[in-house]
Amino acid sequence: MLTTADLESRLSNNAITVLERRYLKRSPEGRILEQPADMFRRVAAAIAAAEDQFGHGEEAAALADRFYDAMTRLEFLPNSPTLMNAGRELGQLAACFVLPVGDSMESIFEAIKQTALIHKSGGGTGFSFSRIRPANDVVLSTKGVSSGPISFMKVFDAATETIKQGGTRRGANMGILRVDHPDIMDFIMVKKDLTVLTNFNLSVGLTEEFMKAVEDGREYDLINPRTGEPIKKLDARKVFDRIVDMAWNSGEPGIIFLDRLNRDNPTPHVGDIEATNPCGEQPLLPYESCNLGSINLSRMVTDDSQVDWQKLGDTVAMAVRFLDNVIQINRYPLPQIAEMTRANRKIGLGIMGWADMLILLGMPYNSDQAIELADRVMSFIADQARDASRKLAEQRGAFPNFPGSRFDEDGEAELRNATCTTIAPTGTISIIANTSSGIEPVFAVSYLRQVLDQDILVEVHPLFEAMARAEGFYSPELMKAIAQKGTIQSFEEIPEKVRKLFVTAHDITPEDHIRMQAAFQKHTDNAVSKTVNFPHSATRDEVAKVYRLAYMQGCKGVTIYRDGSRDMQVLSVARSS
Ligand code: UDP
Repeated sequence: MLTTADLESRLSNNAITVLERRYLKRSPEGRILEQPADMFRRVAAAIAAAEDQFGHGEEAAALADRFYDAMTRLEFLPNSPTLMNAGRELGQLAACFVLPVGDSMESIFEAIKQTALIHKSGGGTGFSFSRIRPANDVVLSTKGVSSGPISFMKVFDAATETIKQGGTRRGANMGILRVDHPDIMDFIMVKKDLTVLTNFNLSVGLTEEFMKAVEDGREYDLINPRTGEPIKKLDARKVFDRIVDMAWNSGEPGIIFLDRLNRDNPTPHVGDIEATNPCGEQPLLPYESCNLGSINLSRMVTDDSQVDWQKLGDTVAMAVRFLDNVIQINRYPLPQIAEMTRANRKIGLGIMGWADMLILLGMPYNSDQAIELADRVMSFIADQARDASRKLAEQRGAFPNFPGSRFDEDGEAELRNATCTTIAPTGTISIIANTSSGIEPVFAVSYLRQVLDQDILVEVHPLFEAMARAEGFYSPELMKAIAQKGTIQSFEEIPEKVRKLFVTAHDITPEDHIRMQAAFQKHTDNAVSKTVNFPHSATRDEVAKVYRLAYMQGCKGVTIYRDGSRDMQVLSVARSS
């Protein structure tokens, strides 16, 4: 059996490179002014200092030590903006924002300005463009015709391109259009041209009404948002097939289930949910922001290969306090965002290192056992997080919008936070923590990396290397051969039990991906970031089947990717990067 000692707790070379490039404090001339340990100390001290505001200033020093230990042991990390900006002048700590876009020039260009401010601070923005009147509709003031949501999205895209977040983080956007908007077909097709809207992820906002029409093979109404009147009908199946066709082609658009997001909206008395953050895991009200943090599950395993429930529970309580403190000291880019965020106090505690945890426990990712454990682990985290939020409410007060919230209506105890859990992609913080990202399976057990100009290095998953050495099949040649192939499934010299344990994102079926997503979604207040990988040979029917499965299993959205379907694939096995 592998043990956690096989995962070294000190920072990997990749982690140090990432931190040096974008996280560590620099002088105006670009000289690095802090070491990674200084960064963790800076963040811990800044977040613990919030205790002052709650009348617990005397606990701040001990708490800062606790936060520092959790981060340096790579057991918990907050989202990137917190690591970059806490305890510094900018002080903007949240990753996720949603901005309202209304049907007027003032509102649209105001939103573009607000987007610029958020991107500059390292946050990502999501928008619903559904309120903008369709292309070729009337414009009363000029007697002209309207340009429609897509042409305005291009302006947001150009602004994002220009800002590029001051060189630290790429400005990321989510653009959502309701399936009953008259311009929906153009929206679905817009990324056929791979050069447009490159700073946007796109999702179609599907409604229950639409899904029923697909099931029944009916037409459904397209509604002009300016008048609220139906102006056209479309065949629901044709629209659904077109979404599937485009997703099969290029991975976009994704889909989100709007009614489902609103069924779980904790504060319907404050507003409706129309959009999510860029990677889809965080539905938010207009002007709301959310800060995320993730527990590294591969560090929550005992030496005798069991889930360390005690440690996990303690870490959840610590993390909830950390994230609630973040809300308190965050410097918000706009007063409206400060007000909305402080009124709901949403936090998004999630996980990373799930696939690595399963390997440590000896459970294949695509096994019933793993699905059952996902259910147990996430329900435990959700319960502990709610518990911690309730305790904070007793000391610090409930979130101000609690009266009239869904919890209030259901007679539940007061909570400090309108939502507690979100499963983020953990794209960068999982590199810092040297673990598998979010709830994704391992991407490759061994891959080739080009260093300097010439050298090609073979990077091997640390747990796979430990296993290969323990089982006596390690050789540099084999590791290289695996890196070229991308999977170990066809290597007969590797014991079958090892092949089953080290399944990659490409080895498992799309249904396995969805089952895992659904198991986690069941216990997550917000949404779950997950990519469903398809082999290049997958058919459109297979994609459609997975969309329907995701709907039936209670997922809030789906993102798919068919291998090789985009020219510039960011992560590619068997290719040097
Ligand atoms: N995000 C962003 N730009 C990026 C990466 C992420 O704006 O380049 C935002 C976006 O809202 C995303 C969220 O941060 O959904 C969380 O992403 P992730 O977990 O990958 O971030 P990390 O904390 O690992 O950097």
